[in-house]
Amino acid sequence: FESRFDLPHIRDLFPNASPIPSTFCLRMRTPTEDFAGGYPSDEKWHGYINNNDRVLLKVIRYSSPTSAGAECIDPDCTWVEQWVHRAGPREKIYFQPEEVKAAIVTCGGLCPGLNDVIRHIVITLEIYGVKKIVGIPFGYRGFSNEGLTEMPLSRKVVQNIHLSGGSLLGVSRGGPPISDIVDNMKKREINMLFVLGGNGTHAGANAIHNECRKRGLKVAVVGVPKTIDNDILLMDKTFGFDTAVEEAQRAINSAYIEAHSAYHGIGIVKLMGRSSGFIAMHASLASGQIDICLIPEVPFDLHGPLGVLRHLKYLIETKGSAVVCVAEGAGQDFLEKTNTKDASGNIVLSDIGVHIQQETKKYFKDIGIPADVKYIDPTYMIRACRANASDGILCTVLGQNAVHGAFAGYSGITVGICNTHYVYFPIPEVISYPRAVDPNSRMWHRCLTSTGQPDFI
Ligand code: ATP
Ligand code: MG
Repeated sequence: FESRFDLPHIRDLFPNASPIPSTFCLRMRTPTEDFAGGYPSDEKWHGYINNNDRVLLKVIRYSSPTSAGAECIDPDCTWVEQWVHRAGPREKIYFQPEEVKAAIVTCGGLCPGLNDVIRHIVITLEIYGVKKIVGIPFGYRGFSNEGLTEMPLSRKVVQNIHLSGGSLLGVSRGGPPISDIVDNMKKREINMLFVLGGNGTHAGANAIHNECRKRGLKVAVVGVPKTIDNDILLMDKTFGFDTAVEEAQRAINSAYIEAHSAYHGIGIVKLMGRSSGFIAMHASLASGQIDICLIPEVPFDLHGPLGVLRHLKYLIETKGSAVVCVAEGAGQDFLEKTNTKDASGNIVLSDIGVHIQQETKKYFKDIGIPADVKYIDPTYMIRACRANASDGILCTVLGQNAVHGAFAGYSGITVGICNTHYVYFPIPEVISYPRAVDPNSRMWHRCLTSTGQPDFI
């Protein structure tokens, strides 16, 4: 089975690079071997992944082009098969553990699970026998000449970091040019770089990988996609998303209680999702307490006869209360463009939550119906949470596989979960554009069924 994607490999750059047999899976460790306190003595990996192992990327078979969801496919080709590289430890590795200096960097905004991934990268590197592991402080900025010093990492340092949210290393947006980053990496003798971040960070990681290739440096750059919005292509989900949905549900529940307990109460909750409404859609589905879910992918009218405000009036008259959930990137057309950009070049969005709150208050005042409007923005509370159990597992496996990928000699790749299996993708394939909710998908239709909302256009 051919993979849909070729993974860039150190071998392409150094055709004579000879692989080294991995001792990772075969060696039994004694508690005293690596650090005081020790590993469990039975720590052992059970077998290797073959480079030719593949995971099925697409597994749907439409029996007819009229099946829901099959509209966009070619009627003559209802059976789609695409395979991608399976992640995991390889029998042959391309770095001697003692020659490795590994660095970890976390960029962009906070996301539940960052510490879990850092922890597992460090632990897995140590199991391979790597002694030099450092954390780069405050994202790519830590590679600048601002005098930010790297943080030595070991199992001892990271042992309990997953018990709290945030990032042990700190995060930032912006940072030095790519050539300065590679200069800095060279100065610090870093030859394995693990990059945790979203689309922007991965674009940076790929640029670092290309610059290293251009300079002929034997460096492995491996990404772990961090996007709470779940907007990375081809993956089942990204870490932090599950936790975000769970926490968002709590905010929705509070809004529901507020709205339900007030006379003509209306609760409005703004959730993350700059360009895709996965959190809003999933939290609406999970909570079962949302009457109106608004996402960036689905345009809506606010004031018109079919608009959101008219529907709110109907809900107040029939149910007595209502709860609205809106993704931060929704309805940006109604707002004045800020034209402001953050340090990474992302456009700063105007606040749609506050806008809907103000317009709702004004509307009910104008039509002479009392309404008690409450607005909740749980964004920063959600971002700072520690990962829940399911994200904890995802982070563990992603962290381990990132290290296996680097040792296997791949660079310019990222790790992910695809149809419940763990895989490697070349970075450009997953960041060419943000993944979005398909308004024709069954999931969005299920969400509409659950909220009972009409089309607002
Ligand atoms: P989040 O999901 O939190 O937005 P992100 O990774 O997209 O995560 P950004 O702030 O957009 O966060 O970018 C993070 C880092 O990546 C910044 O340091 C930024 O300078 C760098 N970066 C962003 N876009 C690019 C790009 N196209 N090329 C190189 N570097 C980039
Ligand atoms: Mg981004």
